[in-house]
Amino acid sequence: MVFRLASAALGTVARPVTSGRLRPVLRWLGVAGLAWTVAGVLSPHVAAHELGCDAVDDGEIRYVDQTRHDDALAHAVTTWHALGRVDILPNGWWTVADLVWTDVNRTDVTWDGLFYCRIFGTATAYLNDAFLEGDSQHNKRAVTTHELGHGLGLGHSYKPQIMYRCATCGGFTTPQAHDREDYFKLWP
Ligand SMILES: [Zn+2]
Repeated sequence: MVFRLASAALGTVARPVTSGRLRPVLRWLGVAGLAWTVAGVLSPHVAAHELGCDAVDDGEIRYVDQTRHDDALAHAVTTWHALGRVDILPNGWWTVADLVWTDVNRTDVTWDGLFYCRIFGTATAYLNDAFLEGDSQHNKRAVTTHELGHGLGLGHSYKPQIMYRCATCGGFTTPQAHDREDYFKLWP
C-alpha cells in the first residue's frame, strides 16, 4: 500500500517537471521515495497485510444484513467477533451502519465476494450469487469470512490463509495463524 502511494506521489511530481534545474530535486525525491519504500517493507507495520481502510468505527462494526446468505454471514461474524478486539454486531435503531452486506448476480466478473471500502461512510460487502448460489456451505462461509476480514482492515496475504485472494482454496473457513497475526497487529 505504502509502496503504491509512494510511486503515485513521485509520478505526480515527476510529470510536470521539465526544467534541468529541478532534476536534482527529482533525484532526491526518488532516493527519498526508495528509502521510504525500503523502510516500509522492513517495518513490522507494513509487514502486516493491511488494506489501508476498514469498516471499524469506535471499536466495532455495525452491519446491515441484506444478504440471503445468512448462515455464511453468521459464521463470518462469529468467527471474527470471537477474536475479541472488534465487536461485530447487527446495526440497531440507535447506531450508525458501518457495513452493508448485499447480494448481486453478476456473470461479467470473476469474483464471488467483493469488499468496497469507503474512508468516510458505510462500506459494502457484495456476495455474488452468480457463483455462490449453487456453491457449498463451506465455500460460502470461506468467502464471507474473507470479506469480513477486509472489513476489519486486512488486505490479501498468502496461502494458506483466509485472506489469501482465493478464499476457498485453503479448505477452511476461519482465520488462520497469519490472519490472526494481522488482526492483532491492527487491533492490539
Ligand atoms: Zn479479497
